[in-house]
Amino acid sequence: MISHDLGKEKGVYISTYGCQMNVNDTERMYTLLEMLNYSPVSTADRADLIIVNSCSVREKPVHKVHSEVGRYKDLKIKKPHLKIGVGGCVAQQEKKKLLKDVPLLDFVFGTDAIDQLPKIVQDLMAQNNKVVSAQFEHAKPYHVETLVRNPGVSTFVNITKGCDNFCTFCVVPFTRGRERSRPLRHLLQDVLNLTKRGVKEVTLLGQNVNSYTSECGANFAQLMKALASDTPIERIRFTTSHPKDFDEELVSVMQEHRDKIMDYIHLPVQSGNSEVLARMNRGYTREEYIRKAKMILEIMPGAALSTDIIVGFPGETQGQFEDTMTLLDEVPYESIFSFKYSPRPFTKAARWEDQLSDKEKSQRLYRLQDQHKQIAFELAKRYQNQKVSVLVEEYDEETGKANGRSTQNKLTHFQADRNLVGETVQVLIKEAFPQTLRGEWIR
Ligand code: SF4
Repeated sequence: MISHDLGKEKGVYISTYGCQMNVNDTERMYTLLEMLNYSPVSTADRADLIIVNSCSVREKPVHKVHSEVGRYKDLKIKKPHLKIGVGGCVAQQEKKKLLKDVPLLDFVFGTDAIDQLPKIVQDLMAQNNKVVSAQFEHAKPYHVETLVRNPGVSTFVNITKGCDNFCTFCVVPFTRGRERSRPLRHLLQDVLNLTKRGVKEVTLLGQNVNSYTSECGANFAQLMKALASDTPIERIRFTTSHPKDFDEELVSVMQEHRDKIMDYIHLPVQSGNSEVLARMNRGYTREEYIRKAKMILEIMPGAALSTDIIVGFPGETQGQFEDTMTLLDEVPYESIFSFKYSPRPFTKAARWEDQLSDKEKSQRLYRLQDQHKQIAFELAKRYQNQKVSVLVEEYDEETGKANGRSTQNKLTHFQADRNLVGETVQVLIKEAFPQTLRGEWIR
């Protein structure tokens, strides 16, 4: 039995690193801890329970956990009852070693243990012993309802967890475990419940959403079709998709339900060279990727594309990097998220000897971003003097300005009336930049 008074008159503070998946997990942790009566607080010094929701994807992840927890040393002396825990990918990866290395820590819980958080906190309080819970629960079905305190107009819904792809640069399969999908019927109910709370847009979230497979056999295209047809949700987005699993069936469903499924596709290419892609274990060649991107734009004309690119992967030659540069001329990416390769624990590529110097990687990154900046400004011109459909997410009383995202995922600002939040409005674009649009609301 969990005591629902455990957190009475106590505050919880969670600091979050990393991706949207972690942001979502933090929201889940707050909701679970509110069930124990913990109140979220905005600064660590007001907390009785501090959680660091860690990320392994950035540089020196373990070091970051050490330094953040270290900052709470004085607080712990002042408040001996203060409990400090680490969750997320570093917790999953390091497990009880973290407790040994960071003596200030009271508990460590992995990415599959979030729903056990109330029990972990209760055990911690009852026994006053340190707690570690970081086992993967591969055999358990993935049945988690979306837990979000104030979902607002737009919210995230996890549909898959983990990844089986083992790209040679990526730590996710080691920190999030094998891929599992939520059942389609649960997702339909979850989204229906969110619409009853005022949600107009959901972003379906997973490491590789388009390898989604429900226990009833439905694939990602069929899930999208069911959500668009059988729920009152107004807008559907998704991230992240894998090019090797992006097929014509999915694009056709997106086109058929374009009134609800947004015409923005993030399709991470990582490299424009087929040999590098093979070393990355991505499962497609440059030519196959380009064919897919063209197929998407043929079936869904006007859709916006974005991508992720890694420069300076081990062994990447100058010529191979030039293939990534020329890919920008082949695929009209409206935005790119580009990074220098950096080795991650457990991954194959981290053990290869042909690592590039940081200087070389920085030069390549600079060239890539510089070239894309010009392309993005050119591509943004297509929105100039065009009408875009925007779901209003925020209104600023002081300036009278509202903002929201266009169907192509552009943050759009315009002068508006209050009470427009949650409405979908038409905006005539007067100024178009790569990331944002400014326009006039068409009443
Ligand atoms: S598909 Fe994505 S999450 Fe999975 S291993 Fe590759 S990069 Fe990582």
